[in-house]
Amino acid sequence: MGEARRRKASGEPVSWCRTCTLCCVLPEILSLDKPMYKPCRHIARSRCGIYGQPERPDACSAYACAYLQARMNGGSGRNRIPHPLEAGAYFHIDQQENAVVMFVDPAKAERWKTTQIAEILRTLMARGLHLVILDRGRRMVVKSEFVYDEILKRDMIAFADAEGRPKDIAEYDIYASGVQASG
Ligand code: SF4
Ligand code: SF4
Repeated sequence: MGEARRRKASGEPVSWCRTCTLCCVLPEILSLDKPMYKPCRHIARSRCGIYGQPERPDACSAYACAYLQARMNGGSGRNRIPHPLEAGAYFHIDQQENAVVMFVDPAKAERWKTTQIAEILRTLMARGLHLVILDRGRRMVVKSEFVYDEILKRDMIAFADAEGRPKDIAEYDIYASGVQASG
């Protein structure tokens, strides 16, 4: 029995995140004064070192990526979204912005395109959400299926880098060498 199933069977809390810390590295977290791409100082052994403690920010306690949300909900679609460590990306829906926001692991940047995520994002866009991709210091807002298809076909970030276009997120060049999000 895997660790998650054993824990579930014994009533212990299940760690669906496993050793993923992508959402502790890639986004900006204001309450921790943490810029994008800088690993949180509280990461310890590929987990949150202050889990369950009062100093853990509410923003962390409240957050669940779409993968984790689906697991916690336990519905029939819970196996559809790949684990972020396998997909090299995670996403969530931002209701206020009417957007689906995806953060890409720089170490596995193109992998999500080969997973179920590619079709899930297409479905969400067809429902009227726009897509925001944060990938290797770039922020792309995708509002049309045509542009989405272009992104699936080629590595747009490599293309922009080869052209010498400046990054949208300058912190990427400062912290990218220290990014080890995929524990
Ligand atoms: S990205 Fe998702 S699976 Fe990974 S640590 Fe965050 S909530 Fe857990
Ligand atoms: S406090 Fe814990 S959950 Fe929040 S970003 Fe840091 S390591 Fe992750």
